[in-house]
Amino acid sequence: MAKQLLTMETLVTLCKRRGFVFQSSEIYGGYAGFFDFGPLGVELKNNIKRAWWQDFVHGRDDIVGLDSSIIMHPRTWEASGHVAGFADPMTDCRETKKRYRADQIFVSPVTIVEMVAGAVPEMIGSVAFMEDATADEIVKRAKVLRDSLEKKNCKVIEEKLAEKREFDKVPEAELATILGPDATKPGSLTPARQFKLMFETHVGALQDASSVAYLRPETAQGIFNNYKNVLDTGRVKVPFGIAQIGKAFRNEITPRNFLFRSREFEQMEIEYFISPDADWKALHRKWIDTCIDWYVSIGLPREGIKEDVHPQEKLAHYAKACTDLTFQFPHGQQELEGIAVRGNFDLTQHQQYSGKNLEYFDEEKKTRYLPHVIEPSFGVERAFLAVLTSAYDEDEVPNDKGVAEKRVLLRFAPKVAPYKVAVFPLLKNKPELVERADRIYKRLQKRWSAFWDASGAIGRRYRRQDEIGTPWCVTIDFDTIEKDGSVTIRDRDTTKQVRVNENDVVAWIAEKMGEN
Ligand code: ATP
Repeated sequence: MAKQLLTMETLVTLCKRRGFVFQSSEIYGGYAGFFDFGPLGVELKNNIKRAWWQDFVHGRDDIVGLDSSIIMHPRTWEASGHVAGFADPMTDCRETKKRYRADQIFVSPVTIVEMVAGAVPEMIGSVAFMEDATADEIVKRAKVLRDSLEKKNCKVIEEKLAEKREFDKVPEAELATILGPDATKPGSLTPARQFKLMFETHVGALQDASSVAYLRPETAQGIFNNYKNVLDTGRVKVPFGIAQIGKAFRNEITPRNFLFRSREFEQMEIEYFISPDADWKALHRKWIDTCIDWYVSIGLPREGIKEDVHPQEKLAHYAKACTDLTFQFPHGQQELEGIAVRGNFDLTQHQQYSGKNLEYFDEEKKTRYLPHVIEPSFGVERAFLAVLTSAYDEDEVPNDKGVAEKRVLLRFAPKVAPYKVAVFPLLKNKPELVERADRIYKRLQKRWSAFWDASGAIGRRYRRQDEIGTPWCVTIDFDTIEKDGSVTIRDRDTTKQVRVNENDVVAWIAEKMGEN
């Protein structure tokens, strides 16, 4: 299925129906920006995290792992600059009471002409729209603006809508002419204001300014806090990396697009420490390629991943370079991961704020320095959403009666699939079949997540597994018990079946998984 046809709504519905993702606190009407992962979602998520840990920690000699606390000494966030600066500009709509991130809103001037021949185009105002709005949506907004200004009989000139200006850059006097993204009348958006993104809490018995602490907005600072501990206790030498997977919290103004932007999410981050005179450009390039290869290894199509190089003027003052990897999500080509070259800003700050010497002693060169870092920062939920988007497919296969039927399937790479294999006794009321199937099931369960299903027509059982992305289904039939002990193994993608001896099923799957 062409990916541009896949909507977020289709994914959200599938995720809920099959137990991948639920809205948090659904029985209380939900809680915006928070999600719960159901029985299948937690498997998929764990498999993504496990693959990452395997490839970036266990599979490398130069990276070690860490699991730091979520709440850290508040000075950490002063040093990192988050207390003073971790904020997004926001604008409120006085009409709809909605709140938007001002840097995600763009403004287009709208020109309309009377249908009367010879009329001169006239600029009548501007529409504001979110960065991922389609051209059709923008034209629709333009028509709302026109109607609200009661100019009948006129036509919106669409080409003019291509002129896109950043909301923040619009002079305040012009705000009165702008129609907000969901408003019906112009002039409802407030000027942009800063909105703090860190969640505050209190630690200890006192609930005053002295006890304020923060839920970490990124896992990276826990790595910098522990850099010296790792250095002093491990056998690491620059260049080396510290990797961590953990929760991060951001009070996002506009959590939207399902898991893409939530208020509680998980990050998989690496700080890769390098010498100040290392060829950082080459190392950065290598990290970008390594990250792309990793996404491809968990099932993303290479052509869906693009590089978005931050222009020099948009970089933080200390950063040397930053490249985002973007992916073709159902709501557009958007950031999947950021890979930044951060100089030694963080260690310099922590050294200054803590008063502790964080320098590295280079034995070979007999010099001391604060290492620079390259920071690949992955989002677990964005990887999850990208994997689902890539895996989603629809095709047609014959049903039990040989009639072609639409099929929804998830073509997961086996290593991330929630279940690797399903086991079916052909009939549930034949104890010989059920017992034999159970023996195979128990053997498979020791090694992989396996699924047992004894009910319903076999075709329907296959379809259920296709929809949750199980790569192989093993069926125990009368040939197994009466003839040669062979079972059928059916492939999700091709629907083809092969017969394999029941004693060889584990080895057969291990080989397909690349585990032999
Ligand atoms: P954005 O510009 O989309 O807000 P960001 O540039 O602020 O993202 P970083 O601070 O670089 O993001 O965070 C690193 C990674 O963490 C992102 O690439 C993304 O995968 C993930 N991430 C950040 N914010 C969120 C969020 N609110 N929900 C889910 N994942 C997130």
